[in-house]
Amino acid sequence: MPPFRRLVLAAVAAVIALAPAAPAQAWSPDVAALQVALRATHDYSGGIDGVAGPRTKAATRRFQRRRSIRADGVAGARTRRALGRRGRPPLGSRAMRVGHEGWDVAGLQFLLARRGFTSGPIDGGFGARTGGALRRYQSSRGLAADGVAGRSTLAALRDRNRRARSRRPSGGVGGGPVRFLRPVRGPLGDGFGPRWGRMHTGLDFPVPQGTRVGAAGRGVTTFAGYNSGGYGNLVIIRHRDGFETWYAHLASVTTRPGERVRGGTRIGFVGSTGRSTGPHLHFEVRHAGRPIDPQPRLLGASASVLAGPLPSGLECTGARDRRPAPPTTSPATARLPAC
Ligand SMILES: [Zn+2]
Repeated sequence: MPPFRRLVLAAVAAVIALAPAAPAQAWSPDVAALQVALRATHDYSGGIDGVAGPRTKAATRRFQRRRSIRADGVAGARTRRALGRRGRPPLGSRAMRVGHEGWDVAGLQFLLARRGFTSGPIDGGFGARTGGALRRYQSSRGLAADGVAGRSTLAALRDRNRRARSRRPSGGVGGGPVRFLRPVRGPLGDGFGPRWGRMHTGLDFPVPQGTRVGAAGRGVTTFAGYNSGGYGNLVIIRHRDGFETWYAHLASVTTRPGERVRGGTRIGFVGSTGRSTGPHLHFEVRHAGRPIDPQPRLLGASASVLAGPLPSGLECTGARDRRPAPPTTSPATARLPAC
């Protein structure tokens, strides 16, 4: 190969390796609150994902047309007024507590779910379960666990820079230098957070049956077997600092408990075992036993492969299991939240 071409290829490879993680789909608690309100008016039947996609815009237009508001698909002041008690009050305009309901409460429930603190259905009603999730979140962030969502709690929940800060070795709660490799080559489908009416506790990689799965980092395999709660064939690897990674729906497992692995060590092959409608890898990162968003912890170069449109809802089999997942369970029976 001519030296010049080799240089160009090397430069391209370097750029790809350094490419930052693709930005996650833009979401907002206000869009989630709008989706909750439009569900109640029977204009919207999609998931509460906080993303202003085509279905949400179409639902907004439907509602606007019925109320003789200019159908621009944007939930402005008139549209919010027409939504009545579900369209108010704005997020941040009061300290939310048990008994409150409305737009701001739906936004709060969505933000808690994004952080991995499920409060039952996102429905705009502040009940005991929302209060419990809020207290758990507050104590995890070192805030006064009073179950009241005031200014400081909301600021912490809305802090979009937390991701960037947690990249620093001396980050806050849950922060640290622990980073993971992408476990499979291939695109990312469903991300972490509310998806399809449930809390999605990991990332889904819709890759072909039999794709090689590599350990996301150095650690020890602590579980390699069948899980009856929906994960199917499951591998769990323990890493340092209280981190674990989970690899679910595998066709077969090639590691065993006690094996020491490094990043990239083969641990199994992609399948569709457990509650799954097609081959994909469900990948979780857990810290102190709780699922957290893996994306901020994926190394940039391994987090940037994206394509679209991708299959999603791969764990929505119609099986009815709406029970909330218990906080700690044995790996063999841990439950994957259902759609
Ligand atoms: Zn999944």
